[in-house]
Amino acid sequence: MSKPDTQAFIDAIRQHLSYSLGVQPAQASLHDLFMAVGLATRNLMLDKLFLTEQRYAEQNAKRLCYLSMEFLVGRSLANNLYNLGIYDICRQAVQTLGMDFDELLEVELDAALGNGGLGRLAACFLDSLATLDMPGYGYGINYEYGLFKQDIIDGKQVEKPDHWLIRDTPWLIERRDYACFIPLYGRVVQTRDRAGKMLPTWIDWKVLVGVPHDMPIVGYNGNTVNYLRLYSAMSSDEFDMNLFNSGDYIKAVEQKISSENISKVLYPSDQVRVGKELRLIQEYFFVACAVRDVIRIHREKYQDLNNLADKVAFQLNDTHPALAIAELMRTLTDEYDFSWKKAWEMTVSMCGYTNHTLLPEALEKWSVALLEHVLPRHLQIIYEINHRFLQQVANQYPSDIGRLQRMSIIEEGDDKQVRMANLAIIGSHSINGVAAIHSELVKTNLVPDFYEFFPERFNNKTNGVTPRRWLLNANPQLASLLTETIGEQWITDLSQLSALEVVSEDSAFQDCFLRIKRANKQRLATLIAEEIRVILNPDALFDIQIKRLHEYKRQLLNAMHIIHQYLSIVEDGVMLPHPKVYIFAGKAAPGYFMAKLIINLINNIADIVNHDPRVKGMLSVIFMRDYKVSLAEKIIPAADLSEQISTAGMEASGTGNMKFSMNGALTIGTLDGANVEIREEVGAENIYIFGLTVADIEKMQRIGTYKSWDYYHHNPLIRRVMDAINSDRFCPRESGLFKPIFDAIMFNDRYYHLADLDAYIQTQAQVLTDFGSKPYWAKKAILNVARMGKFSSDRTIKEYAQAVWGIETAKK
Ligand SMILES: *Cc1c(COP(=O)(O)O)cnc(C)c1O
Repeated sequence: MSKPDTQAFIDAIRQHLSYSLGVQPAQASLHDLFMAVGLATRNLMLDKLFLTEQRYAEQNAKRLCYLSMEFLVGRSLANNLYNLGIYDICRQAVQTLGMDFDELLEVELDAALGNGGLGRLAACFLDSLATLDMPGYGYGINYEYGLFKQDIIDGKQVEKPDHWLIRDTPWLIERRDYACFIPLYGRVVQTRDRAGKMLPTWIDWKVLVGVPHDMPIVGYNGNTVNYLRLYSAMSSDEFDMNLFNSGDYIKAVEQKISSENISKVLYPSDQVRVGKELRLIQEYFFVACAVRDVIRIHREKYQDLNNLADKVAFQLNDTHPALAIAELMRTLTDEYDFSWKKAWEMTVSMCGYTNHTLLPEALEKWSVALLEHVLPRHLQIIYEINHRFLQQVANQYPSDIGRLQRMSIIEEGDDKQVRMANLAIIGSHSINGVAAIHSELVKTNLVPDFYEFFPERFNNKTNGVTPRRWLLNANPQLASLLTETIGEQWITDLSQLSALEVVSEDSAFQDCFLRIKRANKQRLATLIAEEIRVILNPDALFDIQIKRLHEYKRQLLNAMHIIHQYLSIVEDGVMLPHPKVYIFAGKAAPGYFMAKLIINLINNIADIVNHDPRVKGMLSVIFMRDYKVSLAEKIIPAADLSEQISTAGMEASGTGNMKFSMNGALTIGTLDGANVEIREEVGAENIYIFGLTVADIEKMQRIGTYKSWDYYHHNPLIRRVMDAINSDRFCPRESGLFKPIFDAIMFNDRYYHLADLDAYIQTQAQVLTDFGSKPYWAKKAILNVARMGKFSSDRTIKEYAQAVWGIETAKK
């Protein structure tokens, strides 16, 4: 079946209901119907997947394997339908069958196999690779439990398990025939081969089985379908059989259970390392599966591995997959007899490493003792890599001990550590940051010694987002207006949006644009009325901050401004020139005390503000529970103002910032991450930048001039805000609840909140004034959309493909 008509699609849905699911149409639940529609859609994708594979094979195409612990895919049905070009056909078919299509879309559970930006980036990249007809595949873990679901009870975050696979999904195809065996634990002994050569041999290992589950990824226009290959861990029957035979039945079953735990749950920490054995095994497990899979595929086609590096590229999404470097070396030398020199040449030329953070608490290290226990052979290989590398460094910098210590993969000390970033840098031909400012800071602040040693390896790849999900799919009304105005080319060539420049001041166009924004706000207000029972005014300024809760992202700075605004109304009698709605959403890592307390503060502020008659109709504060991709798709099109207010130098790129601008929100933000490039693109007059720069902060750090108490004592407005947080004003039933926030800010603020608060308040006032003039605001918003071309992930992927991976478009 190529592009079906409505009747053919109806028939396919009926077929799947009856014969794939075994359900009589009259008794089908909404989920049954979702499954049937999903399977009908999947069939179309599989036909294209077979053709795509054939095309790549004929062209002997080089393939990219994107190695990532996280893929934050979200829902797939609507996206797949849009990309296949059958969205309207499917809507009609479903409605003909007597079901509500929008309700059907809402039944799908998000695939929340990631924490935040890093995982969502991986998902956007897969969409772009397929849309660009490039052979690029995702490799990751098929977590049985995705990121926890967030409830809010008495203002506090409560985590609930996300057992998403408990319901059937149409998108994953299990492929037991491609299962692979992954050894771990055990020890290494020295043996000799027949020629008497020393052979280190890894013995007494236990074994995991990795079973791939493929999620087909269709590009826009449906020409190319790649896949995301996610591995589930199972126990090996052969292995367990020994225990069963030796009569220890219970132990055998326990063993099996512990094997299956490897892919059980996604670690919910974002931007902090966890250091748990299970996490280390997860990291090893999926890269070991990926390496085996790639080698299997390569040998089927080319018999040997001599040209492997010409046909495969690996990209490491952060250091989580950095063991791929050691695993490639182990496989090529121990299993396929390559010389160390040749294997190393191949490994470095295949691997690229993307750095995602400068925060020291997020840089991965593993204790040598743990690695030795779990992966003894890999530890030896890491030592060998390190030894050879440090020899090179010593040759170039004789007797520079400090430099050797800094560049060593091993951090010496009581509990010796393996530095994964050093391993990733030494083993990759390309090292990139994710926004221009971030890539510079990687070179100058994070690893200056490596930059001096390998200057040619360092580069920048500014992140992007897919306009299919984040504009076409999330904001269909704006998408239609764009297509009516400039044609549909923007969907695959976002730079075409620049054609909107000429209508940015056209009052008819502005009216349409503002009407769509209002409709999106109204839709979100309806959702909030249902969920939180707070009524919002769709003509208020919607000021939105949605992202993971982290101190460096400074949701607290936003909360401080709201407190200031609230107190200035109720205590000083100030009137706002326009009503304002503040919307937050975001999850805190379950063990992150301060982040959870900030969620509590925001919820309590919301409770007080929303029930205070003195600010009624003027100020509302909303915290939406359970932030996830499908919620972001509903919130972002309704934003007037996008909050991107991280401490300068701490947000590597941000991608939320791009999604908002693309949907016609203006940004209030610091000069951090991709905000810097967003300002370059949209023009300084179309973005609200405030606060300290990286240079300001570095200077204050050097001379130690940031003293919270100075701001507290010298600015009465700041003091009033801090005193309100310290008092029981926002926690009347839990005295002293927010004192730890007061103390963190006043005694140990790594994030410069008070140094930026005054500038933030001033800039917010300017925003509110500007919002009053509709044509003035509309022009800025339209120019934001018009100038977002750079931030399509298609552009990012083309840059990686050309400069790092050496892969090409493989069209018909
Ligand atoms: C885009 C996105 C993120 C990243 O947002 P930032 O503001 O860049 O941190 C996180 N989570 C979800 C669900 C997203 O869609």
